[in-house]
Amino acid sequence: MATATASASSLIGSTAVQLGRIRVLKEGINQLHKPQSSSTKTGPVVYWMFRDQRLRDNWALIHAVDQANRLNVPVAVAFNLFDQFLGAKARHLGFMLRGLQQLHHEIEQTLQIPFFLFQGEAIDTIPQFVNECGASLLVTDFSPLRQVRGWKEEMIKRVPDYVSIHEVDAHNIVPLWKTSDRLEDYARTIRPKINKLLPEYLIEFPTLKPQTKKWDASKRSIDWEKLIENVTSKGAEVPEVEWCKPGEIVALEKLKVYSRTKLMNYAADRNNPMKPEAVSGLSPYLHFGQISAQRCALEARRFHKLYPQAVDKFLDELIVWRELADNFCYYEAHYDSFRGAAGWAHTTLIDHSLDKREHIYTVEQLEKAQTADPLWNASQLEMVHHGKMHGYMRMYWAKRILEWTSSPQEAVEVAVYLNDKYHIDGRDPNGYAGIMWSICGVHDNGFQERPVYGKVRSMTYAGCTRKFDVAGYIAYVKKLVRDVKKQKGETVLNR
Ligand SMILES: Cc1cc2nc3c(=O)[nH]c(=O)nc-3n(C[C@H](O)[C@H](O)[C@H](O)COP(=O)(O)OP(=O)(O)OC[C@H]3O[C@@H](n4cnc5c(N)ncnc54)[C@H](O)[C@@H]3O)c2cc1C
Repeated sequence: MATATASASSLIGSTAVQLGRIRVLKEGINQLHKPQSSSTKTGPVVYWMFRDQRLRDNWALIHAVDQANRLNVPVAVAFNLFDQFLGAKARHLGFMLRGLQQLHHEIEQTLQIPFFLFQGEAIDTIPQFVNECGASLLVTDFSPLRQVRGWKEEMIKRVPDYVSIHEVDAHNIVPLWKTSDRLEDYARTIRPKINKLLPEYLIEFPTLKPQTKKWDASKRSIDWEKLIENVTSKGAEVPEVEWCKPGEIVALEKLKVYSRTKLMNYAADRNNPMKPEAVSGLSPYLHFGQISAQRCALEARRFHKLYPQAVDKFLDELIVWRELADNFCYYEAHYDSFRGAAGWAHTTLIDHSLDKREHIYTVEQLEKAQTADPLWNASQLEMVHHGKMHGYMRMYWAKRILEWTSSPQEAVEVAVYLNDKYHIDGRDPNGYAGIMWSICGVHDNGFQERPVYGKVRSMTYAGCTRKFDVAGYIAYVKKLVRDVKKQKGETVLNR
């Protein structure tokens, strides 16, 4: 892993980053047809926040404020709460809304930037707000997922011609469109591209400048408690988890403690489900954008001299594999179905699609962890009740689903359904890429041919027993589930 050499406070560096990070989606200055009134020109800059739900270390917010200051107009943050987004439940929406509640308070108190919360469809609410407040510029953060890209295409049509839309990749360290303009087949092909650009992009953030002109509207209150109550009762089927407290302050604290006390074990223990403390546990915060990956990388890098191997491995997962997942979802239209399989894996899986399966389970049996494999059942229960399965187990979990469903198509569907329903970090490009790696050979090579898997890498129960204490993990999950049930006041059978 290359280490960044740019000076932390380099202004030239940060300007370059700003320029590279932004993509102008719409520079619709159609002056011939729409002469602009002066009031339109002096409208605010609106930042439609979606994926990067934080005020610290957020390039989209930095850009919105910077643009507002240049135009001498105020800035506002708008967030749209969907009635339904990819099946999100109480676990996800509760975590998100509690984080936003803190953000709302802090952004208005400390930065005096108003925060507007809308409910409904973003393609309606955001253009309407842009229209109503006469915005001059709409800034948005970046997501490679097809739904979000579809909304943006629609918004381009719905905002007035004179409004520019700037999309800022505040999630990846190197903006996706800078790293590569194509689907990358492997980590080894994207790694050198990212490493080459890291000195330019992995730099300290500039301080968010005070606004030169502030929004003069009176404060609007948001009934967060009611909203949270609504979404958590509607999605109660998958309840919130106690152990994972939301918000950027908690996330930053978690990062600090982890880097100081546990990161040193990352290279040796990250693949041991019996040592869950060896991994950072940051994925829920990264997924909801409550922490910036760039901040995590900067913090981890401070320990490079002390534990070079651990830090290099952590940065490789955090940067290369995470950004590879965004690349996959952006450039592969079928990122969540068998059609997105690697070419060689598609062929071999079709060749083996009629192979006899030892078991075929229904979705319900899988969901209820009713398979003949106690290790798989434990991982499923860890996900259902704890809300986060250990990373090593996620690979085993997905691969076994391939063995127990009637086709690779069905295996991907079931894995995506369960992953997104129960994982607190679900509905993330990492999840789609992880499932496609496990089942469809994406970003992987072929291995020795086996029934059902064909040449796709397999993982077995016996293999796991050689790697870690399987019985210990099963007992650990049993206790985890018992504790969660006790917390919820459910009767626990001592089996
Ligand atoms: C079948 C399967 C499903 C997965 N589903 C999800 C998911 O829904 N959401 C999700 O965020 N991740 C998912 N992953 C990727 C990975 O397992 C998790 O990101 C990781 O376990 C999260 O725990 P952590 O934050 O403690 O990770 P750490 O090991 O501490 O890593 C730090 C960060 O690096 C990134 N990272 C680590 N491993 C990977 C990886 N293999 N690919 C991409 N990025 C990685 C993550 O952002 C992670 O938070 C999945 C992987 C597989 C194989």
